[in-house]
Amino acid sequence: MFQSSEDSRGESPVSVIGAGIAGAWQALLFAQAGHAVTLHERSSEAMTQSTSYWAGGMLAPWCEAEASEPVISRLGIRSLDLWREQVPETPFNGSLVVAHARDRADFDRFAKLTTGHRRLDAGGVSEIEPALEGRFREGLFYADEGHVEPRRVLPQLHARFTAAGGNIQFNSEADPDQLDGIVIDCRGLAARDTQPELRGVRGEMITVETSEVELSRPVRLIHPRWPLYVIPRGDGRFMLGATSIEAEDTGVSVRSALELLGAAYAVHPAFAEARIVEFGSGLRPAFPDNLPRIAVHNDKIAVNGLYRHGFLLAPALAELTLAYVQRGVIDNEVMQCA
Ligand SMILES: Cc1cc2nc3c(=O)[nH]c(=O)nc-3n(C[C@H](O)[C@H](O)[C@H](O)COP(=O)(O)OP(=O)(O)OC[C@H]3O[C@@H](n4cnc5c(N)ncnc54)[C@H](O)[C@@H]3O)c2cc1C
Repeated sequence: MFQSSEDSRGESPVSVIGAGIAGAWQALLFAQAGHAVTLHERSSEAMTQSTSYWAGGMLAPWCEAEASEPVISRLGIRSLDLWREQVPETPFNGSLVVAHARDRADFDRFAKLTTGHRRLDAGGVSEIEPALEGRFREGLFYADEGHVEPRRVLPQLHARFTAAGGNIQFNSEADPDQLDGIVIDCRGLAARDTQPELRGVRGEMITVETSEVELSRPVRLIHPRWPLYVIPRGDGRFMLGATSIEAEDTGVSVRSALELLGAAYAVHPAFAEARIVEFGSGLRPAFPDNLPRIAVHNDKIAVNGLYRHGFLLAPALAELTLAYVQRGVIDNEVMQCA
């Protein structure tokens, strides 16, 4: 959408701090628009210190409308186009929402609060996910949603950034106040020194492996407390996620593990024989209103608070930041200019 112009090329250098999903998209769009961009990341290429490493990677603006403000859907739907443009191999196989009979009322509520879905009967469910034949009497199919695998897509975005002329420096801890030019601070929770209202919301996940189940898309199971889901990762691996706990310690509690594994078993009993590959958790960076924010103070721009929507929102937030820098466009819903 934003073309590089001779005018913008070679203007002030841009430093992006943090190569998680927010910073990776900022760096990529700025580099493609012709800016000289350096992306600083304090951890190694493995990115295990980022929240993004632990994420589900669902691109689900319609499902998320159940519990989010309309701005999340607006930016999320725009992001889907950017994912398609920049990472054309992104699977857009849709999402499936199912519930057991006892959670019927919550299922109906979910259907009422969201759009972009088609109701499926039992036959419709097994048509799109044959492995679930006979397991659910109905489902909601959100055909236009997608998902990415964070641990594959982050290196892909970094590589695209480098191909666009960007310079990425791992093991490089940067201080926004010590850098010249335009600084885009995407440090996630580490930005609390300048944004003290940020908090971490723990999300726990488990990866399991089995050859007994095949799924083509994320399957969400209606659950009274959390949206629990199973995401196929390929090679017989599945991510089970995710809890949402107001706590900043990491690790996975026994209770959460029971609930995540129970959800997988409820989706398909063959998960009982699956091998557990990994338990883990990440802290979602969130502001008190759980909404993302682009905070502008002269040439320092902080992009943060992506909460549980980092993969969904990062492309659109990068596009908004670029539009502000190049053309002074302000999106009042997410931008704060000091
Ligand atoms: C279990 C779980 C499941 C999730 N599922 C989804 C999902 O399905 N879909 C979705 O859209 N979102 C999901 N999320 C949310 C998503 O992961 C977050 O919104 C997103 O990762 C936040 O990205 P970020 O780039 O802001 O932060 P981070 O990923 O934490 O990146 C910040 C980076 O900054 C680096 N850094 C910090 N300080 C410095 C410094 N001084 N110098 C250099 N580098 C620095 C850090 O090392 C880190 O790599 C999930 C989160 C969790 C925990």
